[in-house]
Amino acid sequence: MIALSCTAKTIEENIENIEANRQYIDLAELRVDFLSEDEIEKAGAFPELAGIPVILTYRKPEDGGAAVPIDEEARFAILHRLFSGGYAYVDIEDDADPALVRPLTAAAENAGTEIIRSFHDFDAVPGNLYDRLTAAADGGRFIPKAAVMPKSSADLFKIIETARRLTDTAEGQEAAARGFILLGMGAYGFPTRILAGAMGSMLTFCSPPGTSAAPGHISPSELADYGYIGISRKSRVYGIVGNPAMHSKSPVIHNAWYAAAGIDAVYLPFETADPELIIEKAELLNLGGLSVTIPHKQRIIEVAGIVDESVSAIGASNTMVNRGERGWEAFNTDWLGFLEPLKDYALKGRDALVVGAGGAARAVVYALVKEGMNVQIINRTAAKAEALAADFGCSGGGLDSARSTEPPFLVVQTTSVGMSPDIDGDPLPDFDFSGVDIVYDLIYTPEKTVFLQRAGEAGCRILNGYRMLKAQAAEQFRLFTGCKANF
Ligand code: NAP
Repeated sequence: MIALSCTAKTIEENIENIEANRQYIDLAELRVDFLSEDEIEKAGAFPELAGIPVILTYRKPEDGGAAVPIDEEARFAILHRLFSGGYAYVDIEDDADPALVRPLTAAAENAGTEIIRSFHDFDAVPGNLYDRLTAAADGGRFIPKAAVMPKSSADLFKIIETARRLTDTAEGQEAAARGFILLGMGAYGFPTRILAGAMGSMLTFCSPPGTSAAPGHISPSELADYGYIGISRKSRVYGIVGNPAMHSKSPVIHNAWYAAAGIDAVYLPFETADPELIIEKAELLNLGGLSVTIPHKQRIIEVAGIVDESVSAIGASNTMVNRGERGWEAFNTDWLGFLEPLKDYALKGRDALVVGAGGAARAVVYALVKEGMNVQIINRTAAKAEALAADFGCSGGGLDSARSTEPPFLVVQTTSVGMSPDIDGDPLPDFDFSGVDIVYDLIYTPEKTVFLQRAGEAGCRILNGYRMLKAQAAEQFRLFTGCKANF
């Protein structure tokens, strides 16, 4: 189920948020701590206005609530007054004063309101996560809930393995007889927000667009884009490993293709400093393959059992495919993606100038040399251009060594200069574009870098990196699923 956290100041605004997202959500959580004081007493009518089951929650500031300190007795008195207004669930922290909790739970049970006993850890995944959840469940009487903050991939797996103990052991099933809610916060915890249902968690939370009630909440429509309701333990999981990974556009691209092809799969961002651990836990995740991004493209090759020829030549892999007992196979789809927008041009025997000598440049040079072009590489650090050139049998030097005779047919900009937010940057401000046919910048945010703008003004045909991004992803999709992506 999907629960919308309602954190607006007024009942009216919260109802408007429910209306705007009704098609995506199953229930709502009213956060009383966010309501302005004069709105709190109106909250008794909220479930009827909402028209869907509602969780009544009044969070203390130390548990992530709005920063309005309130005396515990007053907080419980408000919960007491409100819950009888038709709330389906009431959330009570597991460490609240038993003398205050007892009368509220008794009254809630009499009224048929389900009780969630929750705890939050904004700093860590506690070592006693499973024990604390089962204690909060009180022998299956309550729904235990934990929202915790993983600080590593190892922490992420602690959460997933805890869920597995609750779903797959007789003891866990007994404790979680009324269900459980278990979520990881922040970038490391994000996969649990999407896999919640598959992990057995009763629900996942989301926030209205533009707001975030807790670290890692996304909007209801973004959850729908991940295909949340269709994800089960049988769904094949794919993803991108990187550090960072949350900014990646790959989940949007891949998940749309799975949906279009009717494939039972989901693609997630795995922010991680430890991509090897993600691969080690492949079975737990039902992991079929990974895209790999900065800074893991080189080290990931070490865990591959089978290495594609392009990976050996480029020295980096951006795609890992799980071949089961045969191990993981490493591919590089960047060079193929790079060539796709150039497929209608005759490249063989013509001159190309590549600006930059980093990881992307290696894939570009590999592709251009394979196409039979004469390649010159220039880079801020001349030694790196020279080393790259030596690997591929071309020429290389510093940024001021761009050849001054015939203009090349193609100029490829592979540095990060000009990329958002530093959109005023230009790696070669004095470069004269006249006579150059095509100028290709691998950057796609902004759509047109200063470098591309100048090239366009000089009459060159210009290409940005968006088509390359889609084309390399389409090749990954084919390697993952055997299906062709339409893009
Ligand atoms: P990288 O390995 O870190 O290489 C960065 C390159 O940029 C190096 O050549 C570096 O020169 C140069 N550079 C950085 N700051 C500079 C500056 N201030 N002045 C001059 N040169 C500078 O990064 P990468 O993986 O190759 O990625 C480079 C760019 O390609 C990024 O913008 C990335 O988004 C883009 N990219 C796009 C796609 C796509 O699908 N469209 C795919 C991959 C990459 P030094 O060697 O002197 O440090």
